[in-house]
Amino acid sequence: MSQAAATPAKRLPFLSERHIDPHAYPDGVAFHDGQYLPMSQAKISVLDWGFLHSDATYDTVHVWDGRFFRLDLHLDRFFGGLEKLRMTIPFDRDGVSEILHNCVALSGHRAAYVEMLCTRGASPTFSRDPRQAINRFMAFAVPFGSVANAEQLRTGLHVAISDKVRIPPASIDPSIKNYHWLDLVRGLYDAYDRGADTALVLDFNGNVAEGPGFNVFCVTDGRLTTPAVGVLPGITRRTVFDLCAEIGLAVKAEAIGVAALRGADEVFITSTAGGIVPVTTIDGAPVAGGKVGPITERLMALYWKRHEDPAWSSAVHYP
Ligand SMILES: *Cc1c(COP(=O)(O)O)cnc(C)c1O
Repeated sequence: MSQAAATPAKRLPFLSERHIDPHAYPDGVAFHDGQYLPMSQAKISVLDWGFLHSDATYDTVHVWDGRFFRLDLHLDRFFGGLEKLRMTIPFDRDGVSEILHNCVALSGHRAAYVEMLCTRGASPTFSRDPRQAINRFMAFAVPFGSVANAEQLRTGLHVAISDKVRIPPASIDPSIKNYHWLDLVRGLYDAYDRGADTALVLDFNGNVAEGPGFNVFCVTDGRLTTPAVGVLPGITRRTVFDLCAEIGLAVKAEAIGVAALRGADEVFITSTAGGIVPVTTIDGAPVAGGKVGPITERLMALYWKRHEDPAWSSAVHYP
C-alpha cells in the first residue's frame, strides 16, 4: 500500500487545489442515508453505478412562494421511472413527499429547486449483476435557479440548433428522466461556439427534439405544436397543454421540422427550472419580429398565476 493511501489526510504535493474539492456547495439540505444534511455533506461512493454508468433516474420539482407546484405529477413520473428501471426504494409516495417537504422546510427556502433521485447503487460484493446492487435514494432542496435570467425572460433566449441527435427512444426510454446528457452537452458546446445561450438537438428523424433539460413549442397561425417523440414528457409541457385547453388554444404534439421551427411566429421552451421561457433568436436569425410573442406572454403569466392555485400546488410546512 502506498504512503498516500495510508495517510489520506495528507495532500500530495502535485495535486492542485482544484483536484481536492473544487465545488462551492449551494445553500440547501439533502436527505442522504436516512439523515438530513447540509449539501456539502451529501456524498456518494465513486463505485455507485449512478456515477459509473449513469444508471439512475430522478425528478425535479420546484417550490415557488413556499408552495410545491404539481408535486403529484413529479412523483408519478419518478415512481414510473423506478419501476421501468427495476429499482426499489424503502419509501412510498407519501414517504418521498414527506422527505421533500422536510428538505425544503429545513432549508428555509421559499423558492427552491427540489430533486429526488435514485441510483442503481453498488453491490456489497462488487458483483457486476445489477440485480445485486442496493439502490440508493437521495433528495435535496437548493435555491431555485432558472435556465434564464431576468433579461432573457424579458427579451428571449438565443438558441442554436445543433446537428447532434438526441439518444433515440429505442435505446433509452425518454419517459424515464435520466442523466444521459452527452448529446445535450455536445449540443451546448455547439451553441456556445456560435454565440447562442443554449441548444436544441434533433431526433432520429432529423426533426427538432428538445434541449438540455427543456422541451420546445412553436406557435404558427395561432396553433401550438411541440415534438411528439424522442423527448422527455415534461410536466411544464403538460402544463402548457392544460392551460391551452382551459383558454381554448389549439395545441398538438407532432413532428416539427427545423424549417418549420425557424418559420414559426413564436417559439418558447418549457422546464421546471424556469417555467415558460421565450426564444427570440434561432441561429442568429430573429423569430418572426424578434420580440416575445403575445401567446407566449399570455401563457407565461397564466403559468405563474397558477402557482397559487391549491388544485395545482401545495404549501410547504415551514417550522
Ligand atoms: C426535465 C427535462 C425536461 C423538462 O421537463 P419538466 O418536467 O418540464 O421540468 C425536458 N427534457 C429533458 C431531457 C429533461 O430532463
